[in-house]
Amino acid sequence: MVHQQQITFHTNGHRHMHDLTGEVAEAVRNAKITTGVAQVFAVGSTAAVSVIEFEPGLQRDVPEVLDKLIPPSRQYGHEQAWHDGNGHSHLQATLMGPSLAVPVAEGNLVLGTWQQVFHLECDVRPRQRTVVVTVIGE
Ligand code: ZN
Repeated sequence: MVHQQQITFHTNGHRHMHDLTGEVAEAVRNAKITTGVAQVFAVGSTAAVSVIEFEPGLQRDVPEVLDKLIPPSRQYGHEQAWHDGNGHSHLQATLMGPSLAVPVAEGNLVLGTWQQVFHLECDVRPRQRTVVVTVIGE
C-alpha cells in the first residue's frame, strides 16, 4: 500500500520553524497501514525538514546555529551569480537536508515524546511551501 499526500502552508521567511507532526500523522492515518514508513520531503531548494524537540528555545537555537555556520554573505558563488540574497539559504537547506523517513508501527508514527517533525524555512522571504508525505507499508 502506498499513500501520498501534500501538506501546504505559509512561512514567515527566514528562520521560521513549522511543526509538521500532526499533519504527517494524519497522512499515516489516511494510509491505513499498520507497519511501514512515512517519508517526508520538502519541495524547494531553500527549505529543510528534520526532527527536534519543538519548543521555543530550540526554535531560536537551530536557525541561530545555522546562521553562525553559514552566515548571510555576498561572497557565495550563488549570490555572485544571481544577486538574490539567499546563497546562505540554499547552503543551510542542503546542510540540513530535504527529507527524512519516520517508521510507522501499529498504525502510528514512531517518535519520541519530545521528538517532533518540523519544516525549516531557510529562504529570506515568506514562502508558500509544500511538503510531500509518502506512506509505504501494509
Ligand atoms: Zn537564490
